[in-house]
Amino acid sequence: MAPKAREKDGGATDGAHAGGPVVVWFRNDLRVKDNLALSKAVDSDAPVIALFILDETARAPRKLGGARRWWLHHSLVALEASLAALNIPLILKSGESEKLVRAVVDESKADSVFWNRRYDPPGIAIDTELKAALKDDGIHVESFDGQLLHEPSKTTTGSGGHYKVYTPFWRALDAGTPPRDPIGAPRKVTNNAKDLSSDKLDDWKLLPTKPDWSGGIADSWTPGEAGAWKCLDDFIAGPFDAYAEGRDLPDRAGTSRMSPHLAFGEITPYQIWAETSRRPKEVASEDRTTYRKEIVWREFSYHLLFHKPDLAEANYNAAFDAMPWRQDKDALRAWQRGMTGYPIVDAGMRQLWQTGWMHNRVRMIVASFLTKHLLIDWRIGEDWFWDTLVDADPASNAAQWQWVAGSGADASPYFRIFNPMLQGSKFDQKGDYVRRFVPELAKLSDKYIQTPWEAPTEVLSRAGITLGKDYPRPIVDHQKARQRALDAYKKLKEAA
Ligand code: FAD
Repeated sequence: MAPKAREKDGGATDGAHAGGPVVVWFRNDLRVKDNLALSKAVDSDAPVIALFILDETARAPRKLGGARRWWLHHSLVALEASLAALNIPLILKSGESEKLVRAVVDESKADSVFWNRRYDPPGIAIDTELKAALKDDGIHVESFDGQLLHEPSKTTTGSGGHYKVYTPFWRALDAGTPPRDPIGAPRKVTNNAKDLSSDKLDDWKLLPTKPDWSGGIADSWTPGEAGAWKCLDDFIAGPFDAYAEGRDLPDRAGTSRMSPHLAFGEITPYQIWAETSRRPKEVASEDRTTYRKEIVWREFSYHLLFHKPDLAEANYNAAFDAMPWRQDKDALRAWQRGMTGYPIVDAGMRQLWQTGWMHNRVRMIVASFLTKHLLIDWRIGEDWFWDTLVDADPASNAAQWQWVAGSGADASPYFRIFNPMLQGSKFDQKGDYVRRFVPELAKLSDKYIQTPWEAPTEVLSRAGITLGKDYPRPIVDHQKARQRALDAYKKLKEAA
C-alpha cells in the first residue's frame, strides 16, 4: 500500500493514531486478559479488528503438529466467543502473513496494527520486516510483551554475552526487576468495525478425521482462556503445596499442566507469576521457588533459541555433528508406539499419544532412551514430540532434547544414561503410572512392574501375560545398549 493512498483515505501518516480501526494481530496470545496489544487497541477508542492468520507458507514459523492443530481449533472457538462479548470480530485468514495483514489493513482502512511479540526466529524475521514496511506506508505499528517475562535479547552476562548455563541465568533474573503486574480484560468496544471477509474455521480442517485420534486429548484438556484459568486454579488449590516433591512423580497430578495454555498464550507467565505469589499464602517458599524456577526454564529456552536460531536443527555443541547416530526404523517405531518392552518408557510414550502430554520426568527418561539406548538422533525424537505434544514449543522442545542428548548448552553429561528400571522404581514406586498407560501389565505385582522380563513364568501367567505376545520383551539389552552409548559418546569426546 502506498503512503499516498493512506493520505487520500484520511489515515495517519505520521505514526499517530487518527481514528481509523486498529487491527490486533493474534498469534501465540489467544486470550483477552493481560493482552496488552488488545487492551491498547481498545483504549484508543477506535473500532478494533482481531485477526488470526494460519500461515503455513515457506517463511512462516514451523507448521503446527497434529496435536497443536487440534488445540488451535478449540482455542480459536473460545477466543472468538470472548472477543464477541467485547464486540470485537475475529477475522480468520490463511496464507502468507505479510500479505494478509496488509490486505486486512487495506480492506478495513485501518491506521494501526498492534501485536504481542513472539520469539521464534521465523516469527521475529516476519514481524521485523512487516513492522518496517507498514511504518513506511504510514501505518502505526506497536508491539507488546506477554509471551515471556524477559526479552531474550536483553538478559546478558556481566561480559555482555548470553547465558549458556541455567543457574546463573536464574540468579540474574531473580535478582533483577520483578515481572510487571498483569492487567485484566479490556472493556467492551462500542465503536463497531465494518464487516470484513473471513475464512470459516471448519474449512481449515484442523481437527483430525479418518481416524479421529483426539478422544483422549479432548478428555484431558479444555483449550482456551477459561480452561487455562481452571487449570491454574486447580493447581494452586492442590498440588502447588507439595510441588517441590510432587513434580517428579508421574503417578499423580503433581504439576500445573500449564504448558499447552502457555504455548498458545491463553494465559501469560505474568499472570501465573502474580497468582502463584499471592495464592495461597501458606505454600512453602521451597514449593513457590521451585515452581518459578520451572517457569524460568522456559525463559532460558527462549534465551538459547534467540541466540541460536537453529536450535531445533543443529547441535548446540558442534562436536556432536560426528555422533554415529543409528538408523533403526523398527526401534524407532517401537519407541513411538510405546512397545519397547521397558514399562516406564512405554507408559510415557502412550501417555503422549493418548493425551498429547507427558510428564517431565518421563520426557527425560524416554528422550534418554531414544538418544542413548537406541542411539537415534535427538532431532527425530524432537520431531515426534513436535507432532504429538499439545505443548510443543520451538524453544523448550529443542533445548530440552539437546539437554538430554548431551549436545545442548548446559547439557546433561554424556555419561548420564537414565536407567529405565531404576527411574521407574524410584519415581513410579507402586507402578500406578505404568498400570494406567500400559494396561496389559495391570495385574503384575509391584515387584516386577518395571521389569516384567525378570518375573518368573508363573507370576507372568497369573497376571495374564505372555511376554512377546501380550507385551514385548525389551527391544535392547540395557547393559549392552548402555555400553554402546558410552563407547559412542567417549569417542566423540576424545575427538573433540
Ligand atoms: P510444571 O512442572 O507445572 O511447570 C510449569 C511450567 O514451567 C511449564 O508449564 C513450562 O512452561 C515450564 N517448564 C517446566 N519445566 C520446564 C523445562 N524443563 N523446560 C522448559 N520449560 C519448563 N515443555 C514445553 O512447554 N514444550 C515442549 O515442547 C517441551 N518439550 C520437552 C521435551 C523434552 C525431551 C523434555 C525433557 C522436556 C520438555 N518440556 C517441554 C519441558 C517440560 O517437560 C514441560 O514444560 C512440562 O512437563 C509441562 O508440564 P507442566 O505444565 O505440568 O509443568
